[in-house]
Amino acid sequence: MNYHAAQDRYASMTYRRAGHSGVQLPVVSLGLWHNFGDAQPLEAQRAVLRRAFDRGVTHFDLANNYGPPYGRAERNFGRLFAQDFRPYRDELFIASKAGYDMWPGPYGDGGGRKYLLASLDQSLRRMGLEYVDVFYSHRYDPETPLEETMGALNTAVRSGRALYAGISNYPPEQHRGAVAILRELGTPVLLNQARYSILDRTPEDGLLDAVGDTRTGLIAYSPLAQGLLTSRYLAGEVPAGSRMSVGHFLKEEALTGTKLERLRTLGKLAERRGQSLAQLAISWVLRDPRVVSVIIGASGVDQLDQNLDALRGGSLSEEDLAEIDALSR
Ligand code: NDP
Repeated sequence: MNYHAAQDRYASMTYRRAGHSGVQLPVVSLGLWHNFGDAQPLEAQRAVLRRAFDRGVTHFDLANNYGPPYGRAERNFGRLFAQDFRPYRDELFIASKAGYDMWPGPYGDGGGRKYLLASLDQSLRRMGLEYVDVFYSHRYDPETPLEETMGALNTAVRSGRALYAGISNYPPEQHRGAVAILRELGTPVLLNQARYSILDRTPEDGLLDAVGDTRTGLIAYSPLAQGLLTSRYLAGEVPAGSRMSVGHFLKEEALTGTKLERLRTLGKLAERRGQSLAQLAISWVLRDPRVVSVIIGASGVDQLDQNLDALRGGSLSEEDLAEIDALSR
C-alpha cells in the first residue's frame, strides 16, 4: 500500500537545535543498529519507520556495519526509503558512519581517509541516496592523525556526499581538537554521538562541557541501556526475542541482583510520575539542553510509541533528580 505520511506529523514532536547551527533535530531520533538487519521481517521494519516519521521523527541514524550482516540495515533502509520515503527526502535527516570493523584487510577499519571515503560511497549506494545529512567518524582512532580523519570528513562534505560532519565516541580532548580542525577547514560540524543514560553517565566527565564550550551538540545513544531501563527485564527474567536473549551486545551478566533492585526502584519512581521506566530514562537524558536528541532503538511500533510518549511527561523535580542521582552512582 502506498504510504502517505500523517498530515499532523509535526504537531507534537519537539525539535532542538544541534549546537550553533541551522539544524534542528527531533528530541527523539530512531537508530537502526538493531531490528533492521535480515533477522527482522521487512514489514516490521517498514511499520516502525512509517510510525516514526508519522510522529515527527525526522532523524534516522545508521552506520555502515549495522545489520546483521554488516551493511544490511542500510540496504533494508534503502529499499524502504525507495518505496515509502523518497518523496519526503527533504524532510529527513539521515546519518551514516564509518570507523569500526567493516571489511577485511587494512582499509576496512579505523579513521583513515581511504576507509572513510570508500565506506561512505558504499553506504550511499546501499541506501540509494545522493548524500547523507551527517557523516560521522564512528570512533576516535588513536593510530590515525586526527588531521587525516577530519580531512576525510571535510572531503565528504566538500564533495557533496554529506551536508555536515559528525564525530562519535570521541573523548573530550579529542572532541575539542576535532572541532577546531574542522572549523579551520570551514566544514560544519554538528554533533558528538556518545552513550549516555542513567546507567552510564560518562559524558558528565568533561564531554558535555566540551560540547557546550564548542557550541556543538551531544546526541545520546542507548538512552535505555539497550533495554535495561525499560520494563523488559524487571521481572528478573530474560524474555524470548529480547536483545539479552540474543546475548551478543547485551549479556545476561549485565542484569545483576543489585542492578535489578535499582531498576525496580527507578520503575517505582517512574510510576509515581505517571511514566514508564523507559519514558523516565528518556526524560532524564533530555533534561540537559546540551543533549540535542536521544537515539532510541525499538523492536516494534508499541515500543516506539511508548518511548515517544515520554515527551508528554513533565520535567523532573529536584527530588526526582536527587533520587536518580543516588541510584545511578
Ligand atoms: P536503546 O537503549 O534505546 O535500546 C533499544 C532496545 O531496548 C530496543 O531494541 C528494545 O530491545 C528495547 N526497548 C526499547 N524501547 C522499549 C520499551 N518501551 N519497552 C521495552 N523494551 C524497549 O538504544 P540502542 O542500544 O538500540 O541504540 C540506539 C541507537 O543508537 C542505535 O540504533 C544506533 O543508531 C545508535 N548507536 C550508536 C552507537 C555509536 O557507537 N555511535 C553505539 C550504539 C548505538 P528488544 O530487542 O529487547 O525489544
